[in-house]
Amino acid sequence: MKRSCAKCGGKLERGYTPEARDVTYKVDQWIQGEPKKGIFGFRLKGARKIDIEVWRCEKCGALEHYAPGK
Ligand SMILES: [Zn+2]
Repeated sequence: MKRSCAKCGGKLERGYTPEARDVTYKVDQWIQGEPKKGIFGFRLKGARKIDIEVWRCEKCGALEHYAPGK
């Protein structure tokens, strides 16, 4: 899939932003709905989750986030 920058029309390069967690990393995710705070942080059970793709423009450095559905 090819994407181009909405700001300058430059070529976008795919990447992602990791979510730091101890020594392991996870890809940041898009979660459907509003955040529900539980005792141990956000309650994500049953929520729709999609890994976030972050595309970076090679020309101006702008970042665009996408969470493509399956
Ligand atoms: Zn750009």
